[in-house]
Amino acid sequence: MSPDDRVYAYSAVLLGSPILLKLFDHNQTLAARVFRLIKQQEILLTVNRPHSEVMSINHAAGESPVVVSQPVFELIARARAASVLPGSLFNFTIGPLVKRWKIGFHGNSVPPLAEIQALLALTNPHHVILNDRDRSVFLQKSGMEIDLGAIAKGYIADLVRDFLRQEGVEDALINLGGNVQTLGGAADSESGSWGIGLKKPFAGPDELIGVINVRGKSVVTSGVYERYFELAGKRYHHILDPRSGYPLDNELLSVTVISADSIEGDIYTTLLYGMGVEKGLAYLAARPEIEAIFVTRDGQVISSSARQFTFTLLDEDFHQA
Ligand code: ADP
Ligand code: MG
Repeated sequence: MSPDDRVYAYSAVLLGSPILLKLFDHNQTLAARVFRLIKQQEILLTVNRPHSEVMSINHAAGESPVVVSQPVFELIARARAASVLPGSLFNFTIGPLVKRWKIGFHGNSVPPLAEIQALLALTNPHHVILNDRDRSVFLQKSGMEIDLGAIAKGYIADLVRDFLRQEGVEDALINLGGNVQTLGGAADSESGSWGIGLKKPFAGPDELIGVINVRGKSVVTSGVYERYFELAGKRYHHILDPRSGYPLDNELLSVTVISADSIEGDIYTTLLYGMGVEKGLAYLAARPEIEAIFVTRDGQVISSSARQFTFTLLDEDFHQA
């Protein structure tokens, strides 16, 4: 390892998550610019503060269309398209339910069934009207709320990658709390690739099921163990089933997507999470550019295919199927 191959890690807390940037140059200024870029995006997209472009759309629900910036309009169009796919459990109008459940935030509780049903009526993605002539977004019913939580980090991870590329950076990694995007490989490792840990669900923060090795790819994991609360012996996690209004309940503990773009990874983790293993594998058979690793409650680790990555299993409680 030459002195040039040393990795420099920079961290911050943004988007409600710990953010990690790895570079092979000591460049505090560049790191600060990356964090500023992320912060600027958070200001546009967040629904966890009273004001943002997305919140201005939510505030005008049932009243009037709101004109937004081109990138925000495009991101919303993307989220809507994923939400109206036949059978999709991705739903970017899930906001009223997310707000009510408050999973991962202070004061979470299990809402009464009647309340959940009333809120479900406000989560129809077809009720979001996009007008690309004036870039306006209209939520047709009062009380509707867009939530880009399942897509924003992926989108921002790609922006960071593009920015670093523009700056001439060849090897780097950005981790936005579970959304990892990479440029090149890790110059300090023998394999020349980035090793990204697949977390062991409900275990210590450093415990891994295994390691995913990639070069210049995105690795996004969505898991039921990321944000949840427990009540009367039951766990309630943060990915909601838009059909029932309750947390998605199936055989999966996590889904990881390996792809070129992190926005795809972010969308597909939620889509595949909803499909489960069998349907998910069938769905991916026709999409070689998107690859997934499913982790099931009974300890299986199942990959769709592995052209863009290698996986090394480390934990004996799990086995590769
Ligand atoms: P994280 O990296 O925070 O785990 P995910 O990509 O798994 O994020 O998305 C989860 C977030 O997306 C939730 O916190 C919520 O804001 C929103 N969300 C919850 N259920 C759905 C759903 N069915 N479709 C789209 N977004 C959802
Ligand atoms: Mg997601």
